[in-house]
Amino acid sequence: MKNLSEEERLERLEEWTPRTRLGRLVQQGKISSIEEIFAEGLKIREPEIVDMLLPDIQEEVIHISIVQKQTDAGEKTRFKAIVAIGNGNGYVGLGSGKADQVRTAIEKAAKDARLNITLVRRGCGSWECGCGQPHSLPFEISGKSGSVVIKIIPGPRGLGLVASEVAKVILRLAGIKDCWTRSYGQTRTVPSFAYALYNALKRTYEIVTPMDWV
Ligand SMILES: [Zn+2]
Repeated sequence: MKNLSEEERLERLEEWTPRTRLGRLVQQGKISSIEEIFAEGLKIREPEIVDMLLPDIQEEVIHISIVQKQTDAGEKTRFKAIVAIGNGNGYVGLGSGKADQVRTAIEKAAKDARLNITLVRRGCGSWECGCGQPHSLPFEISGKSGSVVIKIIPGPRGLGLVASEVAKVILRLAGIKDCWTRSYGQTRTVPSFAYALYNALKRTYEIVTPMDWV
């Protein structure tokens, strides 16, 4: 897992000139936590906002593929990268980027992932466990992308992540320690698989449960 070095992070933030109101508020320290942004339902349009508010953000390259593009000059090879980011504590994002060079594609995807950062509702939804700690999810949830559907099922403490390698990376970045996963459709299509999982995690805050009524 790649951690941005503190030096790299500060350098990036030093060069940052915010283009949005939210960006300016964050840079001026008037908004000092990502929780505030989510509580008010504001849209993050600059990746630096995430770097500023989540200093312990980590990123991981999920997938690289080659895309052929027809141009007047013939076929041109480009690269597509999928990158996941997270703080290992309830925030996760997934993004993609295309470029002529792998490195640039990864950088674009990492920025896109920051713009897609989402809050994950964690909990202990396992009837076998009932510890009440946020080591898993509070309920079963599913997500879809393309032909792929993924279901995440809460598991007891100590179970670990019963999931494919790609899913484990994303779940770890989100801060989920124990769960089962089931997937359907063309699960070998890594981008669809990764986005289905991300969509499931994103939905944890869109679903209203009876617990929210009180
Ligand atoms: Zn538990």
